[in-house]
Amino acid sequence: MHGLMQNHPLLVSSLIEHAGNAHPHAEVVSRTLEGRMHRCTYADIERRSKRVANALTALGVSPGARVGTLAWNGYRHLELFFGVSGMGAVLHTVNPRLFPEQLAYIINHAEDRYLFLDACFVPLVEKLAPQLTTVKAFVVMAGRPVEAASTTLDLCYYEELIAAHSDDYRWPQLDENAASSLCYTSGTTGNPKGVLYSHRSTVLHTMLLCMADAFALTAVDSVLLASPMFHVNAWGIPYAATMVGARLLLPGAALDGASLYQLMRDEQATAAAGVPTVWLMLQQYVHTQSLRPLEELALRRIIVGGAAVPRAVVETFERLFGAHVLHAWGMTETSPVATVCRPLRKHLEYSAAERIDLQRKQGRVPYGVALRIADESGAVLAHDGVASGRLLVRGHWVASAYYGDEAGAILDADGWFDTGDIATIDPDGYMQITDRAKDVIKSGGEWISSIDLENAAVDHPAVAEAAAIGLPHPVWQERPLLVVVRKTGHDVTKDELLAHLSERVAKWWLPNEIVFVAELPHTATGKLQKMVLREMFKQHRFDA
Ligand code: AMP
Repeated sequence: MHGLMQNHPLLVSSLIEHAGNAHPHAEVVSRTLEGRMHRCTYADIERRSKRVANALTALGVSPGARVGTLAWNGYRHLELFFGVSGMGAVLHTVNPRLFPEQLAYIINHAEDRYLFLDACFVPLVEKLAPQLTTVKAFVVMAGRPVEAASTTLDLCYYEELIAAHSDDYRWPQLDENAASSLCYTSGTTGNPKGVLYSHRSTVLHTMLLCMADAFALTAVDSVLLASPMFHVNAWGIPYAATMVGARLLLPGAALDGASLYQLMRDEQATAAAGVPTVWLMLQQYVHTQSLRPLEELALRRIIVGGAAVPRAVVETFERLFGAHVLHAWGMTETSPVATVCRPLRKHLEYSAAERIDLQRKQGRVPYGVALRIADESGAVLAHDGVASGRLLVRGHWVASAYYGDEAGAILDADGWFDTGDIATIDPDGYMQITDRAKDVIKSGGEWISSIDLENAAVDHPAVAEAAAIGLPHPVWQERPLLVVVRKTGHDVTKDELLAHLSERVAKWWLPNEIVFVAELPHTATGKLQKMVLREMFKQHRFDA
């Protein structure tokens, strides 16, 4: 027997429709690329996202077609979040920090039909365009500024495009399991892989974010979004702020300490989200300028994820800012939020030091996600806070396959996804990451693939073998150290090798240091022993 309740599909468009009705005057404040502040409301965002939907329909974008964006956090990007997904197409947010070859691979693999880009990315897209096989038109997210003009590309302009269409539009009642957005993640091996979110997974994840035991977003919040909208949909926070009618502060490309502080102060942000590197830079700025955030800011909580949060960050936010650090863990494949470090009743009696120890854990699962740990043979390990093993996850907003693969392809027989992280889980359910099975180097919340870096080094005629490892860095969390064995009878200097690498990898991938050694440690089967290398260089320190 079926229940007799109404059955409305869980759709991304329902979020902006609700905000337009229930929170029409709540503000979205954006810093434009020119540095001006732009203000609009959720009612404006809804109207303009409907124009986007009408424009895409007129361009022949059909349900399921991919529409790419190459853009910072701003109101037009938010309009595309709702306009593209809402009309049934798939929003593909592309990370502009990737190396051009990866960008071309990703855009071609996703088969993006249109690419919306911030004006600052016109030169990048001019270079990429000859390699792009599916993009029919490039839309600059601006009016018609002279500086965005291209000599080689015939560009369209966002404002002209949407001005030509009405905001009279009914959001289609799509299947809630239809794809809504697509995000690529780079692992250690092979090409980047696409994670394809559905309307249903997105709305359920959005509800989680708003829960009091998660980010607790409400209509009285002003949320500063310092996590980029091209990285796992800015952790889903644009959807969550829209769901509850929170004021949204979008910093554009200005993620430096001075700009973020100014935005927090001028707009009285109550919550802010970003990777530890962003917060380290903010804290450094506050320190060097001798500012008094406790008096000037209204910050109550800081949402941190993407990498483990250093103890000093937690302490400084509490002491200097009066802000509580909410530590969360997740990955592109988990939408991303899968754990949040919120206390239990018994923790209310903890001392300040004990509380900070707890906050440094990645947290516990909300309803909708389950975790377990397993050893190399797949045997499930105890949740005793001691045993550490491969972290497995499953839930309503966890991927079942990468884009282009069979559904279920990345799950084990019981439906668990192996995260590649190594973790402990304590008897209260608090998970703590202890290591990474994958050897990627995490620089400021972005991946540097150690294998790609090594391959680029080995391309040099004088290099016999190379190994890249991540070492702790005071600002970027980790930066690469490249350990190189020269070919006998050949010579290459550090500078020559750096020049060689800079033609092959993105600038921010370049190793902070190159060390030449006689040989590298190997296992019996010839695999590099990165653990041994890390041990060898564990005293090595990079300066800020
Ligand atoms: P991405 O898919 O780029 O978001 O990266 C996901 C990976 O980042 C995870 O598998 C972890 O290795 C790492 N990560 C994310 N959040 C945290 C955290 N709070 N602490 C430690 N590592 C984290």
